[in-house]
Amino acid sequence: MSDLTDLYQEVILDHNRRPRNFGPLATATHRANGHNPLCGDKLTLALQLDGDRIVNVMFEGSGCAISKASASLMTDAIKGHTVAEAETLFEAFHLMVTTPISDPVDESQVGKLAVFAGVREFPARVKCASLAWHTLKAALSGAQVAKTE
Ligand code: ZN
Repeated sequence: MSDLTDLYQEVILDHNRRPRNFGPLATATHRANGHNPLCGDKLTLALQLDGDRIVNVMFEGSGCAISKASASLMTDAIKGHTVAEAETLFEAFHLMVTTPISDPVDESQVGKLAVFAGVREFPARVKCASLAWHTLKAALSGAQVAKTE
């Protein structure tokens, strides 16, 4: 189990150091800002939709390693997919981080995002990991600012 935890940490640190899809997106059709005041994480998400397909997605901002790695992995996971697929992944991610730590994670549902299963041990960190997803939901719904409850 500790090997698995180390592997997960490695993935998160790698995405924090070298975030994927990081930068501005001039061709964006949808945008939203997310802010997690508990930790100070801030991010702007920009999406380019072609019909119901997310053809491009980029993010900018600053925050802790968890929030940045989560945005990086999320953008990787939804790029090229449909809005419906992104929403399904949002639900799977949300379910994963809100189920008790004793419950196993269904990796077939969340794929690489399973690296964030460990945040369940640290309730404050769940908001860091979820920020990008709430911002995505806001952007897709046409809201400018994410609600992070
Ligand atoms: Zn954070």
